Formats: sequence, structure tokens, C-alpha cells
Amino acid sequence: DSFDGMGLQENLLRGIYAYGFEKPSAIQQRGIVPFCKGLDVIQQAQSGTGKTATFCSGILQQLDYNVVECQALVLAPTRELAQQIEKVMRALGDYLGVKVHACVGGTSVREDQRILSAGVHVVVGTPGRVFDMLRRQSLRSDYIKMFVLDEADEMLSRGFKDQIYDIFQLLPPKVQVGVFSATMPPEALEITRKFMNKPVRILV
Ligand code: AMP
Repeated sequence: DSFDGMGLQENLLRGIYAYGFEKPSAIQQRGIVPFCKGLDVIQQAQSGTGKTATFCSGILQQLDYNVVECQALVLAPTRELAQQIEKVMRALGDYLGVKVHACVGGTSVREDQRILSAGVHVVVGTPGRVFDMLRRQSLRSDYIKMFVLDEADEMLSRGFKDQIYDIFQLLPPKVQVGVFSATMPPEALEITRKFMNKPVRILV
């Protein structure tokens, strides 16, 4: 039970340890490796279990840092959560030189457009603003190979179902999908059936 045995890049491990993590939590022990293999994963876990670092590590491990295009998209139900994930991603990826941007409502659209056109590896955002950026082609989807829904149940209960479906339609068909959710209501199961390919299920 250590981060060392997971096959992670040296500079990602440095970021994890510099952030203060010593040992992986249960979800990290079970979830990081399958995510890093590119598998679709459904992880049923409450917040507080370490799920953020699970998908951030899986994304950071798989990015091509020589390509400054959005390769991973993370959706979260609230601005605050999206900005929190942005911070964790940036901290864990500090030694990798990751470029992350949070696209959330209530901020300047033009500023989002400016940052996206300058180039990022990862976008974290709320469904409405992310869809808006995709629709305007300020966010290009061509290079997106990883897609994470964080707190999927919460996003669905906030009425984001249509926007999540619209976003799926705009992504490349072979995208890796990670769904993180405390509970699995019917609408969340429907997403996993419609958009995931032989998902690995992890319950912690
Ligand atoms: P999360 O479930 O992602 O919201 O994480 C809950 C809290 O646990 C956050 O404050 C994290 O910084 C912390 N945390 C996550 N993973 C670890 C770890 N491996 N070691 C120590 N703290 C952790």
C-alpha cells in the first residue's frame, strides 16, 4: 500500500509527496491503477475518501505534456468544487508542468476564451460553462481522451443531465470515462450504460 508501486511517473510521485500524501487511501489503492491503464471506471465513494487525487493522478499520468491541447475534461456540480479540483490537479502536477483551467459560471467568458486559446492540458468545470465553451469551439474536443464526472449523482440532481449528454455527444467516441458518485441513482446508471465501455466498478 504505497504510491511507489503504482507505476506512476517520477514527477507525479514527487507532486503527490510534496502535497503531503504519504500513503494512498483505499479508493486510491484500488482506483488509480485501473484509471492509469485507460479503463473506464465507476467509483462509488463519498467525498472525503480521496477521490479527487484518484482521478487527478490517473489524468496526470496519462497526459502528453508535449501537446498543449485539452486532453482531459472533468465536470463537477459546483464552481467551488471545480476550483478545488483545479487546485489539486495543479499541485499534484506541479513537477509535470501541467496547465489546468477551471471553466465555471459567473466568471468572464472572454477570460476563459483567452486562457483556452493560450493552451491547456486539462479543463475542470461546471457543465453549463463547459458546454458553452465547446459549443463556441473555444474549447476544442479533438484531443480529449479522458472524461471524468465527479459527484455524478449531485450533478444529475441539479438538473445537469441534458448538458452532460450534450457534452458526451461532442467528445471523441473512444474517450475514457470515469464516473465518481456517492450513490448510483437510475439516471447515473443510465449514463454508465450509454457512455461507458466495460467499466470496472469500485465500491469503497
Ligand atoms: P476528497 O475525497 O478527494 O475530497 O479528499 C478528502 C481529503 O482527504 C482532502 O483533504 C485530501 O487532501 C485528503 N487526502 C486525500 N488523499 C489523501 C492521502 N492519500 N493521504 C492523506 N490525505 C489525503
